Amino acid sequence: MITRTLLLQMAGSRQMEHFARHNRLATALAQRFIAGETIEQVTEPVRQLNTKGFTVSLDFLGESVTSEEEVAGTVDTYLRLFQHIRANELNANVSIKLTALGMDIHPDVARNNLQRLLKAASPDLFVRIDMESSAHTDITLQIFRDVFTGETPLTNTGVVIQSYLRRSATDVEDLIKLGARVRLCKGAYQESAAVAFSTKAEVDANYVKLMRRLLESGVYPAIATHDKNMIEAALQIKNELKLPPERFEFQMLYGVRRELQEQLVRDGNRMRIYTPFGDHWYPYTMRRLAEKPANLRLALTSMVRG
Ligand SMILES: Cc1cc2nc3c(=O)[nH]c(=O)nc-3n(C[C@H](O)[C@H](O)[C@H](O)COP(=O)(O)OP(=O)(O)OC[C@H]3O[C@@H](n4cnc5c(N)ncnc54)[C@H](O)[C@@H]3O)c2cc1C
Repeated sequence: MITRTLLLQMAGSRQMEHFARHNRLATALAQRFIAGETIEQVTEPVRQLNTKGFTVSLDFLGESVTSEEEVAGTVDTYLRLFQHIRANELNANVSIKLTALGMDIHPDVARNNLQRLLKAASPDLFVRIDMESSAHTDITLQIFRDVFTGETPLTNTGVVIQSYLRRSATDVEDLIKLGARVRLCKGAYQESAAVAFSTKAEVDANYVKLMRRLLESGVYPAIATHDKNMIEAALQIKNELKLPPERFEFQMLYGVRRELQEQLVRDGNRMRIYTPFGDHWYPYTMRRLAEKPANLRLALTSMVRG
């Protein structure tokens, strides 16, 4: 049986990535989670999402980049994306990974690139910094603080906190004090028991605890989950605190639980769809399959039948 652990290990393999990118079956599988390969190709999917009442966060796929040339290409793509969003009046912001901006080359490279992007995005576009594996948590939060509270503060940005990490309660309190916008998710990487809770019950209990703190005291938190229990808990806290719908937003991934996405909007909630694009789709798709290995079986069966 293909397990979550195995799929997450495969997500980090360059060799597997090379194989997958040249394999028609793997490419077809990825299409469920990816809106297109180019900026132009995502215009229509984003318009359709906007028409249905969703806002969008566009993510140009790429991570763990160690070539300066590739980093420069990513920065250039985001600069063009900002222009494209504005020119086409899309209701979208962007998400970005600091390892795609060169954090593994040197943190200064990622910090400088982030500053450049935030200046270009300002004042109308918000840039969410995705959270990667726990090896990157400290430096990601440090770079965020540097730009958010620097000499010329760049505040059109926010970060992500993962409820599977044991440290997250402390990080959430620090971010609340800073007045930072936080997206809360469970966490998608393979982590050791030393740094992360290992049972779903612990991860979920921590999610609800952190979500309550963010809804009580945070700045426009993003509740990123497809888990009905987490969503019900969010709605219960919202009612308890008498929060109007514009005080927070739900977020879900492109192609995951579409009916639930639509239902939440029909019920008057805000919903942003995290929408990735680009040809570096392999690690992202593998993490999605790891979240629900049954996806792999379903997709393979339907392709064989087709
Ligand atoms: C908008 C958004 C942004 C994210 N950003 C980050 C980030 O920056 N860093 C990070 O580490 N993680 C990120 N994640 C991923 C997140 O950490 C989880 O891995 C993922 O969302 C699955 O957790 P869950 O809360 O949906 O709950 P789970 O308990 O994993 O899932 C609950 C139910 O949702 C459904 N479901 C969940 N995932 C899938 C899927 N892929 N396909 C089909 N059904 C599914 C299943 O029915 C499942 O039973 C993000 C998730 C979202 C929604």
